Amino acid sequence: MARNIISFHALFKQGFTYSFDKLYGSIYVFKNGVFIFKSLPCDGVYETVTFVDNLGNSVLHIDSSIGVEKACLWHCRLRHISKKRIAQLQKDGVLESFDLKSDDVCEACLLGKMTKSPFKGSFERGEGLLDIIHTDVCGPVRSTTRDATRFYVTFTDDYSRYGYIYLIKHKSDTFEKFKEFKNEVENQLGRKIKMLRSDRGGEYLSIEFLDYLKECGIVSQLTPPRTPQLNGVAER
Ligand SMILES: [Zn+2]
Repeated sequence: MARNIISFHALFKQGFTYSFDKLYGSIYVFKNGVFIFKSLPCDGVYETVTFVDNLGNSVLHIDSSIGVEKACLWHCRLRHISKKRIAQLQKDGVLESFDLKSDDVCEACLLGKMTKSPFKGSFERGEGLLDIIHTDVCGPVRSTTRDATRFYVTFTDDYSRYGYIYLIKHKSDTFEKFKEFKNEVENQLGRKIKMLRSDRGGEYLSIEFLDYLKECGIVSQLTPPRTPQLNGVAER
């Protein structure tokens, strides 16, 4: 306990709940159904019951006999096991018997079971060689080559999935390597690159790179932020 005055409203906003003792006016404080501490009325304010432990620290009085939702308590104590397992432990006589309510929901379990739905979006496919080129830069990798290269850039043809890989020293070398790649494949295949698909890496967004693509009539297609799935061919 770091403060000597607690705001019950502040606790409420943190997810604590209360129950009032009708006879003495005490307040029992719970979180996620687990009893945390109780407060007793005293001279117009509520006094929280604490004890001093062996080290002299003031600790909250945790009284598990008062109003505990035992199902929730044991669910948490036993690393969030299922109700079925708790019922089995009760049946085996390992746990005392208590009510297993079916409607209480464990927030931590819900959060833990959340998943991201599968990714369905995709772009159109190329209909011929060089229609679409996928590209990505990778690095810096941990091991450097003998000439101190730590990055590489890939260019993958969407139609044939044929890939080129170039070692580069800096991400900014991507532009030069693209020109080299473009000259080679266009000359060898007698076709032109129509579209370059990349993520929003800075190396593809320089003015000179974008101007060059425009000059060559190549469409620069950038995948939306934080969707590496859409750049799947290059990423794989
Ligand atoms: Zn749980």
